[in-house]
Amino acid sequence: MDRPEKITPMMQQFYEMKEKHRGSLLFFRMGDFYEMFGDDAVTASKILGIALTSREKDKENGMPMCGVPHHSYQAYLVKLLRAGLNVAICDQLEDPAQAKGIVKRGVTKVLTPGTVVDEAALPASDNNFFACIYKSEKNYRLAFADSSTGELYLEPATEDTFRDILSRYAPKETVRNFKVTEGEDFSYSGNFSEAMALREVSDYYGVASLKSLGLDDSSFACPIYMAIRHLNRVMLDVKLLKPRLVTDEERVYLDSVASSTLELVKNSRDGSEDNTLYSVLNHTKTTMGSSLLKKWLLNPLRSVEAIRRRQEIAEFFINRQDIADGLREQLSGVYDVERIATRIAANRCNAKDLVWLKNSTRTFPILKYMLQSCDNPLINELAESFDALEDLTGLIDSAIDDNPPATLSEGGIIRTGYNAEIDELKDIKENSRNILMKIEAREKTSTGISTLRVKFNKVFGYYIEVSKGALDKVPDTYIRKQTIVNGERYIIPELKELEDKILNADSKLFALEYEIFTGIRLKIAENAQRIRNSAAIAAELDVLLSFAQAAVKNNYSKPHVTDSDGIIIKDGRHPVVEQNIRTSYVPNDIEMNTDDSRLSIITGPNMAGKSTYLRMCALITLMAHTGSYVPASSAEIGLVDRIFTRVGASDNLAGGESTFMVEMVETSNILNNATERSLLILDEIGRGTSTFDGVSIAWSIAEYIADKIKAKTLFATHYHEITDIARTGSGVKNLATQVLEHKGELIFMRKVVEGTADKSYGIHVAELAGLPKKVITRANAILKNLEKNELSPNGIANAAKSGKDTGGVVQTMLVFDDHPVVDELRKLDLNSITPLMALNVLAAMKEKAEKE
Ligand code: ADP
Ligand code: MG
Repeated sequence: MDRPEKITPMMQQFYEMKEKHRGSLLFFRMGDFYEMFGDDAVTASKILGIALTSREKDKENGMPMCGVPHHSYQAYLVKLLRAGLNVAICDQLEDPAQAKGIVKRGVTKVLTPGTVVDEAALPASDNNFFACIYKSEKNYRLAFADSSTGELYLEPATEDTFRDILSRYAPKETVRNFKVTEGEDFSYSGNFSEAMALREVSDYYGVASLKSLGLDDSSFACPIYMAIRHLNRVMLDVKLLKPRLVTDEERVYLDSVASSTLELVKNSRDGSEDNTLYSVLNHTKTTMGSSLLKKWLLNPLRSVEAIRRRQEIAEFFINRQDIADGLREQLSGVYDVERIATRIAANRCNAKDLVWLKNSTRTFPILKYMLQSCDNPLINELAESFDALEDLTGLIDSAIDDNPPATLSEGGIIRTGYNAEIDELKDIKENSRNILMKIEAREKTSTGISTLRVKFNKVFGYYIEVSKGALDKVPDTYIRKQTIVNGERYIIPELKELEDKILNADSKLFALEYEIFTGIRLKIAENAQRIRNSAAIAAELDVLLSFAQAAVKNNYSKPHVTDSDGIIIKDGRHPVVEQNIRTSYVPNDIEMNTDDSRLSIITGPNMAGKSTYLRMCALITLMAHTGSYVPASSAEIGLVDRIFTRVGASDNLAGGESTFMVEMVETSNILNNATERSLLILDEIGRGTSTFDGVSIAWSIAEYIADKIKAKTLFATHYHEITDIARTGSGVKNLATQVLEHKGELIFMRKVVEGTADKSYGIHVAELAGLPKKVITRANAILKNLEKNELSPNGIANAAKSGKDTGGVVQTMLVFDDHPVVDELRKLDLNSITPLMALNVLAAMKEKAEKE
């Protein structure tokens, strides 16, 4: 921002702040407003829809300016953060009333989309990750920090994988040590050495080497250091928890396309949670639980033992729904304790936060007791590590008022009865009028002056006024202060004392309440880790209860998860589709292994249920890996290492990119990374190019997967030619979606059976969709010829060259096949018809036939 030559001291202050926080919009506190100036004001007024004014009278040339009220700035802040902006908050650091000269100001926090911890800014049930990407010559090292919970995850990555990993965490903000595009200014360039990062990170955690953190690879120091620096930069006092290295051995690797095509937590229509796997499984009672459920769905487990542990707990709740209901009821009163714990640890919590914490932890002893009483060792284990936090609940309950204000400087925080001095101050405030009236009454009686009044003015404070006629009765102890027309004004020491107390009571009370509150806050902060642990257990319990409830509600069964290489599903249903068409859903089976059923090629007409079948298999496999029950009558699921999906290019070219190119890039990613233990879902690949190209590519991809990769693969295609692979290749079988043809109409059975669809039903589907009869007739004619003559080598149909000379017979046949006259003929009962009627019918038919 250009700085004009002559500026006021205050604007000087502004420019200094702005200089220091160049990447952020500056909220500059002035009186009751946060003001923005210059370019900041222009940007903010657009996003916030607020009026742009000018600092100078000269509206044309003056500096643009806009402001938001400080008591409601949060809502505005959220909008700016959502728009991807950073905001630096510049506050007044001293009381303006007491400031000599210009009020001291300073930036007290910088908020960025990935590091907001204030409740209002965060959508419920989402992690708030920011990502740090460190690229070295050899590889990538990623760190994901949740600024609201302090969690820190580390992942190794390569050029090929880092984007997929990023998409799994959906970070709100990314910090890199390299530039992505020219001219991009926000990135931490690599001006720190690995050695320096190592030193700083070791210091941060107070360990001698990263080995103590369970990290063999010291290169992880770099992204961790970037995270620490980022938190420093935004002045967020969040202590990162010990890092957790997430490796491929621990979880099923989902590529970024898989989580979106399978619509795990977001649907592809509008990006909301409707019609997602999450929405079907989510019966959680807490925001912590719903956010953990999402995490589990995006990070399925790869350990039979860990999966069975979850299953067993869920199973207990399925069998003991009375207990499950009781636990759920307790959980429903639990707030987002994890998030509150972070604000506590960051010293950013207010009294309301503590009350929320208390209201949540209040149920913990009951929860713990209920878990202890469960007749299940795994749940008892949970109970053992669950800290009921009675001491903290007790402390908050005894000290903090039940309904405190959000501000910390205006009292109303400490509960009556907790501190004698505070009670006295409150008493003085509240009873001051009472006490004054009592003094007045007492003095009236003792002096016998009935007109005596206790009054207040700014000059003397409290005084006693006696009218002229009664001056002789005034006792010696009264100190005269002023003579007025009608009498005299006096003070007495007692009144003076009371006055001091009353006038000071407020400020004393507020200061004392604040002091006591910060003491309590500190005490609670020291226990932040205990709070987090209990919160994590409550969240886990919530998800397992949710699994149990979804299983009961939707009639799921417990999958048998094994280390084998097979997937056998009996009567499987698509968990989301079945919700919408409950009664008419047709269950299907699948059997796959790495031996004789590696690749299943699925053919069938449009709308017959191919895509649904593919996704059903992937979803059931994935659900089994999260510990959930599955929509099937039975399922045996061998662990998979990755789930890949690729759905053929749709005709949506809105992006301007060649979708076929995208399709091939993604397919190449799959072919390079899939293993024998992977599950591949390939839905109509090779669609976005000419027929010969498409068949050839799809064919060779299918062969490569079956012979080289040997991954379990479901391959839906409309190229029937490809089904020939089953004749030559090993481990390949053909499946088809069953369709019945009844009087020229298609009936989708939605049943997947062994075999191949021998015919393209595209034309029938087109007819069902209401295309003009003439188009359908002609298409049928062309098809007949195509089937006879095949294609020319460059993919052009021989038959399509001319509609006329390709033999009328085929055409006529087809016309009659579908003609209403044929229907009439069928209905005709020749035994009950006179010769005359027959002639009439014949004439009518001829007329009809000629019209067509
Ligand atoms: P395709 O991929 O073969 O074109 P889809 O899988 O998209 O077909 O299925 C089309 C529609 O058929 C779905 O939207 C769904 O409503 C319905 N459907 C699919 N599978 C089943 C099933 N097993 N039972 C009932 N309806 C189904
Ligand atoms: Mg489909």
